Amino acid sequence: AVVVVGSFNVDHVWRCDALPAPGATIAGQYHTGPGGKGFNQAIAAARGGAATTFLCALGEDAGGAMARELARQDGLTLNAEASDQPTGTGGIYVDSRGRNTIVIGAGANAALSVGFIEAQHALLASASVLLAQLESPMDTVEAALASARNAGVTTVLNAAPANAPTSISLLKLADILTPNETEFASLLARHVGERLEPDDVAATDGSTLHQLCRQLLPAGTVVITLGAVGAFVSHAEDQLRGDTQPYYRIAAEQAQTIDTTGAGDAFNGALVASLAHAPSAAFAQHVRFANRFAARSTEAEGAAASMPRLTPEG
Ligand code: ADP
Repeated sequence: AVVVVGSFNVDHVWRCDALPAPGATIAGQYHTGPGGKGFNQAIAAARGGAATTFLCALGEDAGGAMARELARQDGLTLNAEASDQPTGTGGIYVDSRGRNTIVIGAGANAALSVGFIEAQHALLASASVLLAQLESPMDTVEAALASARNAGVTTVLNAAPANAPTSISLLKLADILTPNETEFASLLARHVGERLEPDDVAATDGSTLHQLCRQLLPAGTVVITLGAVGAFVSHAEDQLRGDTQPYYRIAAEQAQTIDTTGAGDAFNGALVASLAHAPSAAFAQHVRFANRFAARSTEAEGAAASMPRLTPEG
């Protein structure tokens, strides 16, 4: 089974011709729907075939009710800490060129407590894989990773968003770290003292990337997602996870892409679903499934809504 710890947001989206300037009042087409990296990844894991529990914090409001109803529809078990804060929200403007401006109201997500996570110890210990991101308080994420690690559960940390504060002690609790190019560049700047532009990551040669990954997470696996290029994998030399090579790239799958929102969330959810399904399979097989699942997710609009129903068996 999979446990995902993280955020749920109600996203409010306005499509407008141009992003509003300060002081302006403009018209836009509105829609609303679920968001939050944690929720998107939990939905992906569930649709990827894993028995999945999502640990989060919700307000006692319409947003919280939306989370419970959507989880129910996807067979996702939701274990929510009740918060006196409002359920998390995102305010998103998207212009005609697809550029966006986003404000997040963390609300209840910022109140997800260490105590609540510690009370879930038996659930965490019974899982095969734990997946967390950085849209929850750092001490809560750290408590979840530590609890899983102590129980021998495989820990996966999606180090997103890129501007989240991270510590080496937090990173070390991850067996598998899954940054995108921007997040990888920011982790390198912060923890390795190396400058690499996000746009240059995909074109950097494998042995150089591998050396950087080894400095960032000496004892674990780093998977860098490279958008339409695919993914780069780097293992610790004594911990190849069933692979024959310590580092390699796996090309993305072809897709009729219309919206890449949530592609990284799709990749992470699918990766843990595959790990839970076949723990002793070669790691490359999990990455191929995650690429396939994420490519399919770009063929529909939205984040959680665009997750395909696609399991490792096919
Ligand atoms: P994020 O959404 O965090 O920016 P990426 O852009 O790196 O993450 O995308 C995550 C994964 O989604 C990639 O590793 C790849 O498997 C898949 N993906 C993203 N964009 C495309 C695309 N245009 N075509 C096919 N697969 C894609």
